[in-house]
Formats: sequence, C-alpha cells, structure tokens
Amino acid sequence: MDKKVRVRYAPSPTGYLHIGGARSALFNYLFAKKYDGDFVFRIEDTDIERNIEGAEYSQLHDLIWLNIIPDESIEKMNPKYAPYRQMEKLDLYKKYAYELVEKGYAYECFETSEELDQMKLEQEERGISSFKYDRRSLYYTEEQKAQFKKEGRPVSVRIKVPDNVDLSFDDLVRGKVKFNSNDFGDFVILKSNGIPTYNFAVVIDDHIMDITHVLRGEEHLSNTPKQMIAYNYFGWEAPKFGHMTIIVNENGKKLSKRDHNILQFMEQYRELGYLPEAIDNFLLLLGWTPENDQEIFSMDEAKQAFDPARLSSSPSMFDSKKLEWINGVYIKKMNDEDYFKFILPFLKKVDALASFDEEKLRFAGNLLKNEILYGQQIVELLNEIFIKADLDEEAKLLLNTETSNKVISEFKNRVTSLTDLSKDSVNAMIKEIGKDVNAKGKELYMPIRLMLTGRSHGIELYNIINLLGIDEVLNRLG
Ligand code: GLU
Repeated sequence: MDKKVRVRYAPSPTGYLHIGGARSALFNYLFAKKYDGDFVFRIEDTDIERNIEGAEYSQLHDLIWLNIIPDESIEKMNPKYAPYRQMEKLDLYKKYAYELVEKGYAYECFETSEELDQMKLEQEERGISSFKYDRRSLYYTEEQKAQFKKEGRPVSVRIKVPDNVDLSFDDLVRGKVKFNSNDFGDFVILKSNGIPTYNFAVVIDDHIMDITHVLRGEEHLSNTPKQMIAYNYFGWEAPKFGHMTIIVNENGKKLSKRDHNILQFMEQYRELGYLPEAIDNFLLLLGWTPENDQEIFSMDEAKQAFDPARLSSSPSMFDSKKLEWINGVYIKKMNDEDYFKFILPFLKKVDALASFDEEKLRFAGNLLKNEILYGQQIVELLNEIFIKADLDEEAKLLLNTETSNKVISEFKNRVTSLTDLSKDSVNAMIKEIGKDVNAKGKELYMPIRLMLTGRSHGIELYNIINLLGIDEVLNRLG
C-alpha cells in the first residue's frame, strides 16, 4: 500500500458502546496496526434528536478501557483533520453540497414533507414499491425557485443519481459486490435545516480525513453505492470498503439492541467483572477466523495474527458461554495482586464479609479464583455460603437417616475443638468421622454440606468451613 493506512470508527452518540460497535472498532484498530497506520475516532452526531447524554464519552472511554486506543480522537485531535464532530462542520458540508449544485450534479429541492408523502402514495398506488423522487424541483425556473424561497419553503439539496451506472466494488470481506444506480433515486444530501445526511457527510469526512479503508457493519452495504456516486462526482478516490457480517443470537436472529437475553453494552460487562482482554479476545473471534485452532489471543498476538482476508463472510453467532469461558481463562491467568484489585469491589458487595480484614478477603477471593467466570459470580457463590437456603424435601429425606445423624453428631463433636481450619486439617477430620461411623463419599459429605449451606452443591466443603468459621458452623448445626 503506497498511502499511509488510515481507518476510523465513527459512532453516532445515540447509545453507549455495544458489542457491534466494539467489534467494528477492534477490527479497524487491528487493521491500522497491521499496516502501521492510524486509527481515528470521530463522531457522527447529525441525528440530533437521538443523541443522548454520555454516549460520546462511553463510546470513546469504553474503547480505551478495551485497550483499543485511537491515534486521533475528539480528545486527541490532529489540527490538520479537525473538527472530529460532524455538527462542528456544517459549513463545510454546505460548501461541498453547493459545489455539486454548481456543477449540475445536485439541485435544490422545494417540496414539503407532506408533498413528498403524497408523491410516495401516488407511486405506491401505481405499484411502485421503492420510492424515487420524481425530479420535480429540477425543472422549476429561476423565478419559481426565487418565489419558493420567498414563501419560506424548505430548501434541501438532492444529488442527481445518474442513469444505469455500474456501482460495483471489491469488498474486503465479500469480494465483488454489484449495485446499479437504477436501484435508487435522487437522495437528499443536505436537509432543509442545514444538516447533511449520513451518506453525504461520511464521504466528506472520509475524504478530508484521508481515510483509506472503511470496515463497517453489513447494514451499511446498500449505502456504499450511494456514497460512490458522490465520490465519482467529486472525482475523489473512494476508500476500500469492507462490510462485516451481522452478529446473530443463538436462534440465528440478528442481534438487536432489544434482545434482552444478551447483554450488549460494554458498561454492563465491566460491571459484571468481565476483563477487557477477554472481551477483545471474544470480539476477535466474532468475525475473524485464525489459521489454526488457537482460541486465546492477547492483543499483541491478535495484532500479529490478524489478516483481513480471514474476516468471516458468514454471520457470527454470539455465544455468551464462550465469552464466559474466555473470561474465566483470563481470570485464572491474573497474578495475585491484579486479581485482588479486580475482585475486591465484588467481595465488598458480600455483606457477610464486612468484618473481614485484608488477609481474610484475599483468602476468600483466592478460594474461588479458579471457579469464577466473571467477577460478580463470586458474590453469588459467597452468598450461597453465607445465606443458608431452606432445605427442600429431598434434602430433608437425606438428612433423616441413621448414618446422616451419626455423621452430624460426630462432626459437631470434633469441629468444636478444631483449631486449624486448613484444607488438610479439615479433610483429615472428615476422614476420621468417616471411619468412625463407617460412611464415605456422598453419605459422609452431603449431610455436612446440607446442614451448613442448605444446598447440595457449591464450593469445596473445607473452604465453606474455613469461611464460615467455627462459631457459625456450630450455629448452623443447631
Ligand atoms: N455512524 C455510523 C454507524 O454508527 C457509521 C457508519 C460508517 O462507518 O460509515 O453505524
């Protein structure tokens, strides 16, 4: 590649950073790093009614949390390319829109939205399903136009879509994609309120910011030919496009923001105790296939291995179990200090640990390091120990046997004088009980577990005893 590679992530601040956006950003970032290029973060904020407070911050800072760090952004602008928000360059879009008007490639349009609705209706009645503007405004005389402006009619600018022009391109993900200009009619590039439409503003932005490659979601595929018309009229070289396939849920349906079975926002994952490295790793495999069957990739390894030719061309299934598993792998890999820092906020959510000093908190955290898949899970597991459940019928039956009674009473006798609560010491004691009452396996461990937690499963028994402490153990034995 002869030009410096420049790619971008250009979110609209209409929502917080979610899975799809983070995936687009990650792939653009990896692409930039692969070719020693720049990854640019800019904002497409022209949908003013849908913009929400805090979205811009989340879009940028959740990315930074994921270690997907832009070389340029709204907070780190290169003066050559600023501004980085569309609403700050309305004059520029206007200038370019009228440049096309001057050249005869675009024209002012005077219909009100009611008149356009009427036009749509008439076309529908004639059996035309995809509406095309009938170019009425193109044929008004200068006097008529001046009169319309005097009357205060809305003035927008439409681009003139040429007849029957091939708008095919080589997509980085899908190969040759074919479109023809007859697929759509003249579209608005500048609205009557002076705000450009997406398909126009994005062309101006990508051009003036020297963007060389655009990797974006499949939902933009049909926008690309429209953007190509503007590139052609300006005589600008279009970037290379790549459209990533959709993300689907477990039922094969496109992931939608309304899909409440799947958490979608980075913020939610952070709060639940997912690690940024794990999310990056998961996103990498959500749209890209490595050459071998490696599943765990650090960001550095991902930068090395990433090859755009291996971007998936079929939909990627969002598998939350896989994300949990990957996160668990990264938790296990953490060193003691990092792990303690990570897990402490979760331990603090467990009421029963309020009186624990740092040493005991570390102990409680380490106890479950190999079991948890995300931070919040430790809260659930610990509460299962500290908040005793009511026994169900099955448990009651199990406890109501001669062996169980013997196990419990022997356990009570011995545990009272137990001073060392380590794994070896507790296990040795239980073994002794087994010998005394002639019980082993489930009939030995289960009565104790049920008496202590009310549950038939959970973490290792010796850890439960250690965490509860002798007083509480005796208390629970009744
Ligand atoms: N703001 C657009 C989006 O969030 C960006 C589209 C593009 O990358 O061109 O989908």
